[in-house]
Amino acid sequence: MARTCVGIVGAGPAGLVLAHLLADHGVECVVLEQKSRAYVEKRVRAGLLEHRTVALLDERGLAERLRAEGQVHRGVELRFAGERHRIPYTELYGGREMVVYAQQELVADLIGLWLARGGELAFEAEDVSLHGIDGERPELRWRAAGRDERLACEFVAGCDGYHGVSRGAVPDGVLRVHELALPFAWVGVLAAVAPSTEEIIYAHHADGFAGHMLRSAAVSRFYLQTTPDDPIERWPDGRIWEELARRLATRDGWKLREGPVLEKNVTDMRSFVVEPMQFGRLFLAGDAAHIVPPTGAKGLNLAVADARVLADALAARVRRNDPAPLEAYSATCLRRVWRVQEFSSWMTWLIHRLPAELPDRELRERLQRAQLEYLFASRAAMASFAENYVGIEGF
Ligand SMILES: Cc1cc2nc3c(=O)[nH]c(=O)nc-3n(C[C@H](O)[C@H](O)[C@H](O)COP(=O)(O)OP(=O)(O)OC[C@H]3O[C@@H](n4cnc5c(N)ncnc54)[C@H](O)[C@@H]3O)c2cc1C
Repeated sequence: MARTCVGIVGAGPAGLVLAHLLADHGVECVVLEQKSRAYVEKRVRAGLLEHRTVALLDERGLAERLRAEGQVHRGVELRFAGERHRIPYTELYGGREMVVYAQQELVADLIGLWLARGGELAFEAEDVSLHGIDGERPELRWRAAGRDERLACEFVAGCDGYHGVSRGAVPDGVLRVHELALPFAWVGVLAAVAPSTEEIIYAHHADGFAGHMLRSAAVSRFYLQTTPDDPIERWPDGRIWEELARRLATRDGWKLREGPVLEKNVTDMRSFVVEPMQFGRLFLAGDAAHIVPPTGAKGLNLAVADARVLADALAARVRRNDPAPLEAYSATCLRRVWRVQEFSSWMTWLIHRLPAELPDRELRERLQRAQLEYLFASRAAMASFAENYVGIEGF
């Protein structure tokens, strides 16, 4: 049977960054991915990277293309009642910038660099299962090209996202699950059109939230608030452009560019955290352990942050026989995870139209308006927003 030190399940941002950082520490690992390389390199998801995510990738030599092709951002625009309000987060939070770079491009870079450094990565690994995680000799089993495969490990990293198998390998009753389905969903649209803005826009509108995100000079990403389980068939392209134009409209006559829709889907929103993020020799990282509503663009950044903590902790245990950082892994990560949950939840409730069936809706709308007005009027409130949006130090 093949052997390694760390078996990593999942080649998303968490698993791939973990693999690179472990290799930097001289710790051997193997990555198993259920999908094909072509699939994961094309899967459209996040695109906004915090300064510290970029700094980590840079420091490890993983950011060459990101630096060349990513767009540096220093502020964000919030629209309310047809007015624009810019929050200059870089100026408000010590010069820290953010970078727009599509998640699938980052994943493609990390895979290319991993294979180039001789790293092991098995694509199309079917029916991955975890065994013996409560003992000293965990094992991963899977099927590839019709053959049964086995890998003996010392540790397993569950980096296989919300729908993966790792979390389910933990015996019932061990993990405390915190989960809240939010009464909001987004129609996510990828369109072949140049952006109509230089900075990301979040618009609060009586008909629902609209977002104009950025991807590249020729491709833009948009979001429209809808209700969970609203079928995408109810969103023909004409309706999408009409709703975007209305919800993003400003009093100063800003114009939206339209173009062919490349992809569209409806995404539900949830807050989800499991505690602890570890059991025996299994350590969960990224979406396998937590999901934040996408409003604050934090999911990918949290995944990379977990990977960093886990790589250092595993290296301490393996290279220096120091078990303390690994024992503290969950507590270390959860402090940041809960801060980000709180911010993402706060921002979600701030910029969405409140559901009609919400008790005390009118009162809550007045409170929402009061919060927005305070945010736009107070430099202290903007600074608080800025440090959370950019990624607050110390968490
Ligand atoms: C539709 C969508 C849109 C999103 N938009 C945004 C956004 O705009 N901003 C933002 O910040 N975040 C966004 N997110 C969240 C962000 O993309 C995730 O937080 C991020 O991908 C987490 O990285 P990860 O490595 O933990 O998990 P993933 O990226 O999910 O990676 C997990 C990997 O594990 C693999 N896998 C799953 N099951 C198995 C298995 N059984 N065996 C082997 N491999 C397996 C998967 O194929 C995948 O490659 C979005 C997510 C989704 C689904």
